[in-house]
Amino acid sequence: MKVPWNTDDEDLIKAALKNAGLKKGDIKSAHIYKISVDARKRDHKCDSIKKVASVVVDFHDKGIEENLISKGFKSFGEGSYIPSLPRNKRAIIIAGFGPAGMFAGLVLSENGYNPIILERGGEMSDRVTAVKSFWEDGILNPESNVQFGEGGAGTFSDGKLTTRINDSRVRYIIETLVKYGAPSEILRFAKPHIGTDRLREVVINIRKAIIKNGGEVRFNSKLTGVKTELRRIKSVVVNDEYELPCDALIAAIGHSAHDTVKMLMQAGADIEGKPFSVGVRIEHNQEALNAALYGENRGRYKNLPVGEYQLSRHFENHTVYSFCMCPGGVVVPSSSDCETIVTNGMSFYARDGENANSAVCVSVSPEDFGNNPLDGMEFIKRIEAAAYNPKKPYSAPGTSVLGFLSGKASLSSLSVNPTYSRGLYESDFTGIFPEFIIENLKSGIKAFSRQLSVFGDGGAVLTAPETRTSSPVRVLRTEELHANGITNLFPCGEGAGYAGGIVSAAVDGLKCAEGATKIGRAGGRLAPQKIF
Ligand SMILES: Cc1cc2nc3c(=O)[nH]c(=O)nc-3n(C[C@H](O)[C@H](O)[C@H](O)COP(=O)(O)OP(=O)(O)OC[C@H]3O[C@@H](n4cnc5c(N)ncnc54)[C@H](O)[C@@H]3O)c2cc1C
Repeated sequence: MKVPWNTDDEDLIKAALKNAGLKKGDIKSAHIYKISVDARKRDHKCDSIKKVASVVVDFHDKGIEENLISKGFKSFGEGSYIPSLPRNKRAIIIAGFGPAGMFAGLVLSENGYNPIILERGGEMSDRVTAVKSFWEDGILNPESNVQFGEGGAGTFSDGKLTTRINDSRVRYIIETLVKYGAPSEILRFAKPHIGTDRLREVVINIRKAIIKNGGEVRFNSKLTGVKTELRRIKSVVVNDEYELPCDALIAAIGHSAHDTVKMLMQAGADIEGKPFSVGVRIEHNQEALNAALYGENRGRYKNLPVGEYQLSRHFENHTVYSFCMCPGGVVVPSSSDCETIVTNGMSFYARDGENANSAVCVSVSPEDFGNNPLDGMEFIKRIEAAAYNPKKPYSAPGTSVLGFLSGKASLSSLSVNPTYSRGLYESDFTGIFPEFIIENLKSGIKAFSRQLSVFGDGGAVLTAPETRTSSPVRVLRTEELHANGITNLFPCGEGAGYAGGIVSAAVDGLKCAEGATKIGRAGGRLAPQKIF
């Protein structure tokens, strides 16, 4: 259904029933399932911005339903995901308490398992303290930061829950997030978001539920090794201090745990390099963006969502696209390695910050960085290290868009106040990115300015580098989801190369939990042993 944006729920449902030729008496219930905004055809008229909605109707008489389906209406609800795991007492270890590890742990604990979850970073409040001390004082904890710690990489994010995957587990995940405290509106918005503030509460509630169900979450506990026999993990090593027996290991370690990926590779896991992207963060004034997207009459519309965009343009060998847009958000220092610079974006639930930001990224592939499985990691490391300015520790290279496009970097005459808390130093990014990245970024920004006027604002600010867009490697796995080289290792989520974003990582976590419960038990139980 497409109706004027200001249409309220009741009138929208009435319109949907009328559209289907239904009377109130024909139905048992009706509710709005999904809503999105369509402002593409806006003009001066005050109802040109539309609400696109799907309405779910339940009937007394199934005959009416079948008749509508024969007319092309879709039936709803078939194929909802209901987790069912075999009940056996496998010793399952999960490395990583990001969305993938969290949902793997939750579904296992809800089905009679006692998963032990190892998280190298700190528990939420310690982690928040560590991140604050980095953002404010430049003191980086390489084990507890924006990438590592309770909740994983997405904790300091906009908490966007959009995904392109079509899987019945997606709805289950959104419903589960609401069950543990997320705002219920995420069930009905086509582009739902939670915001970092609400997401942190949800993560803590899920952790408590896992523990209540008999699971365990060990913080500041890093998977540092695996003991294998006949291509099978017998035990895992934690903090190089002690071992834990293991029937199955779900490695949900995220895209920044390069050290752990190397360890699994040495232990026999097959790894390959994969495409990802790198770029910069661009910041605009949010109100200017709202005006560009919704027009000067936007004040006449009730509760229009804060303006957001998605742009992409394919050039000769590379695609330039906007990524991880954070309306009303900030650019956050996101390093996890000392003397490196990494940017990303974060918003609070209200998305009420002055600026809008997104990454503008260029796709890269092994053709650009080399065919050795770890070349992508090295490519990222070089960019992040080159961006580090020892004279201004953890300040980031930045310039106005005009300065960037003209090749004369400048941080004066900006139209927005940069939000990167460690401050910026002037740079046109030469020497940080390879030339082809800089040229593609310039072409991309110029092309986007023809699609969306704010991109033409020379006073907008660019902050670099955005490098943690997705994993530079894939840990090869079989259809049963265990690693090629190690039969009871389940490479999982974004770090393993099977997800991109909070929801798709959580989906992969559920899948790997299902997979891990289906394997045989490792020969006999081992008591935890001290390593000398
Ligand atoms: C700042 C920021 C903003 C983002 N915004 C969004 C957004 O709005 N929406 C969205 O969909 N996605 C967003 N993302 C991406 C999203 O966070 C990731 O795609 C998602 O978190 C991947 O989930 P994961 O569980 O696979 O890995 P991660 O979330 O990265 O979690 C991996 C966890 O494993 C732990 N770990 C790593 N190595 C070890 C080890 N050896 N032993 C024990 N633990 C280990 C890490 O500490 C980490 O906590 C954002 C990412 C960042 C960094």
